Amino acid sequence: MLRLIAPHLRVESVLELDAPRLRGMGLDALLLDVDCTLKPYGDTDVSAEVRAWLDALLADGIALCLVSNGRGPRIGRFAEKLDLPFVAKALKPFPFGCRRAARSLGVDRRRTAMVGDQLFADVMAGRFAGMTSILVRPIHPEEEPWFTRLKRPLERLFLRWMKI
Ligand SMILES: [Mg+2]
Repeated sequence: MLRLIAPHLRVESVLELDAPRLRGMGLDALLLDVDCTLKPYGDTDVSAEVRAWLDALLADGIALCLVSNGRGPRIGRFAEKLDLPFVAKALKPFPFGCRRAARSLGVDRRRTAMVGDQLFADVMAGRFAGMTSILVRPIHPEEEPWFTRLKRPLERLFLRWMKI
């Protein structure tokens, strides 16, 4: 049970994940959560730093796909702005969205990581899908909707318990 919510790696920000580090972990592709991972919940765009990071990964041949539980139209507009493929209403922690994203990218799920800010959605989905899971510290979690904020104390408890 614990293994299913334990990320393989925990970082402060996606910006720490450069191509050499990802290749060193045996990864060719990243599935990216959107809200609080790439941008604050309420924002419609990413920072210049995140934009540059995405461009650098693509230039280095790392495949990218957004995988969000958010609704199609909102995530679709965001993905279009970034010119990235996406899976919306992914139903994380279930693995279907992650698997669909890996299939559409044509990548091996064992060489793919799910990157996100929530243990009980992103990390579990990645684990269930047979992928590497990478946890990032949420960007401005105080702007999240109440149903996400409810889960945060439990996440902190588990992270302390697992000493991750
Ligand atoms: Mg998120």
